[in-house]
Amino acid sequence: MIELNLNPCTKFTTDAIGKPGQRTFFIQGETDNETITLIYEKIQLQSLIVAIIRFFENLHEKYPDLSHEEGKFSESDMRITPPVDPLFRIGDLNLTFDPDQDKVCIVAKEIIFEQEDPASQMKAQEEARIVNYWCLREQLSQFVNWGVELLQRGRPICPLCNEPIEPEGHLCPKKNGHKKH
Ligand SMILES: [Zn+2]
Repeated sequence: MIELNLNPCTKFTTDAIGKPGQRTFFIQGETDNETITLIYEKIQLQSLIVAIIRFFENLHEKYPDLSHEEGKFSESDMRITPPVDPLFRIGDLNLTFDPDQDKVCIVAKEIIFEQEDPASQMKAQEEARIVNYWCLREQLSQFVNWGVELLQRGRPICPLCNEPIEPEGHLCPKKNGHKKH
């Protein structure tokens, strides 16, 4: 395993590029002298958001004196910094907390594709990379709020009723719900 540590992240964010329904999702962290961008799936962003929210709940239960996260962000700060040149595609995503630093580490592990023989499989395991993004709780709170907004925006909006159009189609209340459009 090759580990890369971004500590502390001066910026930690996610973004999506492409048309609604065909967007590619990225995670990006920066230190003063390094930027690492990774590619992942929308579902992984959704899971990460849920994991961070649950993590904060448990954390505040365990450490009741801990300050609360505000989570206010400005969109221009959250947009990904070009060039978008992802290092790898994420397989596993985890998070850990360091109470001494009061920092959360987002651990992104490279996806490993199944190899034909055990030797190649072992080599792939050994060569897999890990990026540790060390963030403040506040940064992650902003990440969550921005991520939720990003997910919402991906769905095209029906011009008649202003409701999102799901990939499987849309029963529009303005058309009495009879027709899909
Ligand atoms: Zn509609």
